[in-house]
Amino acid sequence: MYDEQQNRIPRGGGEGALISVVVPCYNEQEVLPELYRRLSAVLDDLEYSSEIVFVNDGSNDNTLEAMFQWHQADPRVAVIDLSRNFGKEIAMSAGLDHAKGEAVIVIDADLQDPPELIPTLIEQWEAGFDNVYAKRTMREGETIFKKKTASWFYHLIQRVGNVRIPEDTGDFRLLSRRAVDSLIKLREQHRFMKGLFSWIGYPSKAVLYRRDPRGAGKSKWNYWKLWNFAIEGITSFSIVPLKIATYVGLTTAVIAFIYGFKVIYKTLVYGDPVAGFPTLMVVILFLGGVQLMSLGIIGEYLGRMFNETKRRPLYFLNRHLPARRYTEQQDEHSGTLLAQNVT
Ligand code: UDP
Ligand code: MG
Repeated sequence: MYDEQQNRIPRGGGEGALISVVVPCYNEQEVLPELYRRLSAVLDDLEYSSEIVFVNDGSNDNTLEAMFQWHQADPRVAVIDLSRNFGKEIAMSAGLDHAKGEAVIVIDADLQDPPELIPTLIEQWEAGFDNVYAKRTMREGETIFKKKTASWFYHLIQRVGNVRIPEDTGDFRLLSRRAVDSLIKLREQHRFMKGLFSWIGYPSKAVLYRRDPRGAGKSKWNYWKLWNFAIEGITSFSIVPLKIATYVGLTTAVIAFIYGFKVIYKTLVYGDPVAGFPTLMVVILFLGGVQLMSLGIIGEYLGRMFNETKRRPLYFLNRHLPARRYTEQQDEHSGTLLAQNVT
């Protein structure tokens, strides 16, 4: 008999489990101190040990210096410094690659994701969920237009893509070790993380929260970026646009065929004084438009294939400072060994 309880992978880590918090940061010097303060306060209260993995995504302000200071002062802070700006998706992946925890939490640096929610995420992880995502009940500080377009996008991708991406959900979430291990096996260049989080599967659970407006600094998103993000999402998870191109092409071909028949018939029966310039133009322009659009769609996919076939590594590291918690434990250990040898 199937025993639900027995088949559950023991999670919650038990005694001494480690929780990693990954923070991708790009020019976040204004908010980072506040985030660090609030995050450490939350982590101090946990019954688990913890590490904070700061990923510097090629910032050109003092973000990295602040990280180095905390690394010096706090044994649980790890710093990953990417060789340039790679974008949030890759910064996050770099953090996941280097996080050591039994559970890994991904959080934005700009305080839009409240660190105070972390204990609630952990509770669900203890209850056996692998992918505990924070779902916002309210979007503050965002325009109606942005809210509406976001909602259309989620509906669209749910229909054309084969993944169910939960609506109103960002990257703020907790992943169990096996979910992280699965996720870091996906090395595609075009990383639509929201889709990948869902694609790996595993028991998932939503935790509701109120998303605050940015703490300070500016969002790096604009509508052009969002548009590209939407195209990325759809082309990464669906080939429906290619099919649409095929069917639009087919339909126009059928219509053109019927129309051609009509023209020939008319000419044969009634003869044809030269006329019909407007129809000619309409047909040419329409067909030209359909062809160019289809070519464009094919091009989108071809471009992605081009990027993937190069099989480049996702990122390069400038520096990696693991949390001193580990390095120092090792140092202490080797220190005692050395002392024993001497005596
Ligand atoms: N981010 C990053 N690299 C980038 C852009 C953003 O690591 O190239 C980080 C940024 O520091 C923040 C998170 O990704 O921690 C979310 O960025 P932002 O607030 O600009 O996005 P939004 O919240 O508007 O989606
Ligand atoms: Mg933000």
